[in-house]
Amino acid sequence: MPKLIDKFGREINYLRLSITEHCNYRCFYCRDDEYTPNCKREDILSYEDIQRIVRLFAELGITKVRLTGGEPLIRRGIVKIASLISSVPGITDVPLSTNAHLLEKFAHKLHKNGVNRVNISIDSLIAKKFEEITRGGDINEVIKGIDAAIAAGMNPIKINVVAMRGVNDDEIESMIDFAIEKGIDIRFIETMPIGNAGIEALAQHMSEQDILAKITQHLEGRLTPLISKKTDGPASNFKIDGTKSTIGIISAVSNHFCDTCNRVRLTAKGDLILCLGQEDSISLKDAVHSDLSDEEIKQLIINAINKKPEKHVFNSVVDNISNRQMVEIGG
Ligand code: SAM
Repeated sequence: MPKLIDKFGREINYLRLSITEHCNYRCFYCRDDEYTPNCKREDILSYEDIQRIVRLFAELGITKVRLTGGEPLIRRGIVKIASLISSVPGITDVPLSTNAHLLEKFAHKLHKNGVNRVNISIDSLIAKKFEEITRGGDINEVIKGIDAAIAAGMNPIKINVVAMRGVNDDEIESMIDFAIEKGIDIRFIETMPIGNAGIEALAQHMSEQDILAKITQHLEGRLTPLISKKTDGPASNFKIDGTKSTIGIISAVSNHFCDTCNRVRLTAKGDLILCLGQEDSISLKDAVHSDLSDEEIKQLIINAINKKPEKHVFNSVVDNISNRQMVEIGG
């Protein structure tokens, strides 16, 4: 199997595929209040575009394709998309990132169609606070979605919590207990300065050290560090001793983990983004809608990966990061 290696020697084997810019939640740190995606059906990649692009990536050595958004479960045909992707030869891992509002309805069908595991975003267990953070979300639906994913046999199931001072730092302990009780994994994410909403949310930023201090105190040190696999991505992970759960921290701001970056991102409109914290992108939608052959498009992808930046620039030039909202990129 060929490998996609960038000029810094990193093997790129992971594609994060956003399938819609629309979301049924409006988390305050993810998108500006007044932001509404203006993309129409014809602006986004069709099923055929997605299938061809994923096939070309797989032929280049990509093995993992994560479905994200916006909220992927609101894209019509989500089950068909999952099935198309998971049947591409070479694609062996098709995880989903979702807010789980609609997961109760889809968990079983998605699992049957190749979605083996799921990351669920959940920043509070208190109904009123959850509704405020998401600007309209319903925690009860999310919990039903988590239970449906467990019942469907998705594994692992990870809940992703964006840890924010003065917002949900008082719930770190209860969220850990919730994950342990459900027998699922939990990861805390630092706020990242993506788009205006993300830059403003830095005011509530908690560092990896602060999050870890709270975790350690709550679990009284019952943590065994896990050796990261290359596929773990940018998280420090621990086993919570005596439970089925693992716990992790994704510290994009406190730490530069760019030397292990193994991923690229494709937006719903078909822009290939080479680094979450930089602006470079090329349009693969234009490429698949042109007369270019498969081999020519693969060469375009290889050339783009060769331009993948060495690292993000979160720390130094926050103001220079474009106002692409996280909801458009897919996390
Ligand atoms: N709707 C899906 C979901 O809720 O997981 C997928 C898209 S969402 C943009 C992907 C992830 O990005 C979520 O876990 C969300 O919490 C995270 N996210 C969004 N904005 C962020 C920010 N400014 N800093 C850190 N994480 C962010």
